[in-house]
Amino acid sequence: MLDLLIKEAKLNGRLTDIGITDGHISCVLENIEEAALSVINAKGRIVVPGFIDCHMHLDKVLLNEESVYVDGTGVEKGALTFERKKMFTVENITERAELIIKRAISAGTLAIRTNVDVDASVGLKGIEALIQLREKYRGIITLQVVAFAQEGVFFDHETQVLLGQAIQMGADMIGGHSTAKGEGEKHIDFILNLAQKYNIEADFHIDESGNRNHYLLPYLAKRMNELGLVGRVNAIHCCTLSSLNQDELEEALSLIETSQLKITVAPTAISTRNLAPVKRLIEKNITVGLGSDNIRDFFNPLGSGDIKQAALLLSYVQRFFSEDEVNQVWSMVTDSGASLLGLPNFKIEKNNVANLTILDAYSPKEVIAYTSPAVVIIRSGKLIQDTLRHFII
Ligand SMILES: [Zn+2]
Repeated sequence: MLDLLIKEAKLNGRLTDIGITDGHISCVLENIEEAALSVINAKGRIVVPGFIDCHMHLDKVLLNEESVYVDGTGVEKGALTFERKKMFTVENITERAELIIKRAISAGTLAIRTNVDVDASVGLKGIEALIQLREKYRGIITLQVVAFAQEGVFFDHETQVLLGQAIQMGADMIGGHSTAKGEGEKHIDFILNLAQKYNIEADFHIDESGNRNHYLLPYLAKRMNELGLVGRVNAIHCCTLSSLNQDELEEALSLIETSQLKITVAPTAISTRNLAPVKRLIEKNITVGLGSDNIRDFFNPLGSGDIKQAALLLSYVQRFFSEDEVNQVWSMVTDSGASLLGLPNFKIEKNNVANLTILDAYSPKEVIAYTSPAVVIIRSGKLIQDTLRHFII
């Protein structure tokens, strides 16, 4: 007897039945006759394990809800955030982050990597809040917590100590902000040394201005090779790649390939600069993921935590319109994203943990075009959202 049977779900373009027992996928077949305690008929709707959001700042979400949005430079918005961080409490961070986590789960997201600021203004409050939430939602959504040096590491001595403490508390990774306070190469070395010391991966905000004066990717790739950190670093933004000439870009792509640098693109950045050339990265088989980045804070007054919005935005901005291109964007928020986050056994296959999301759509293109709602969500074999029965068409 199966615990749950999904009938007629579209998996990789084919109608499939999926059986679930003891929290795991027990069979994936064209037609399953076995009895089940509960049956859901997807009626041809598309099923995926869930979506992957490779980059957020959950500790700072919804700050704009508490004040009026004022447009300004990135430096001005950073200063506003810095002042606000001094007033953060663990409870306040938890409350705001949890609202977006719940929205993301409800939209079908299965995993989020979030940067969390660590510095003298906020201390370890964000890390404490997000580690608690990571444990609370384990089995429903995977939260990867990155101890993030947003303000740099050399402007006060305390931050350097706090970053080490954050990792000892249980942060999953270390995060660098290479252009902070003009720290550049010195900053990259400091963060990579911590990654090496604690045997964890690193996550870098790098070359995010798109300005040729900010082009640290070659140095990062070089140091990854020298320090034995090949394949152990994710770079967020890399906007300067879009300012290079053809020869320089070829050289950069070759450095990315050699160092196996993974790249996360946050399409909302288009409001202030060009994005990294995603099609060229995919042509070279570089692992590329998408991230929501800031959500309803001083930098971005919009956003929701639904990564499908980022998929739609990237599709427009860089013209991912053909079937193959749509499938590339689809992979960024599913398989490639899972690979970037190092999630094992992501696929809907026998013996894997039963994480299934049925969307109200019949193809990846429809999911992106409609930013389709998730009508059925199953996590670790448990049904946590089911609105399908309310659909009458
Ligand atoms: Zn970011």
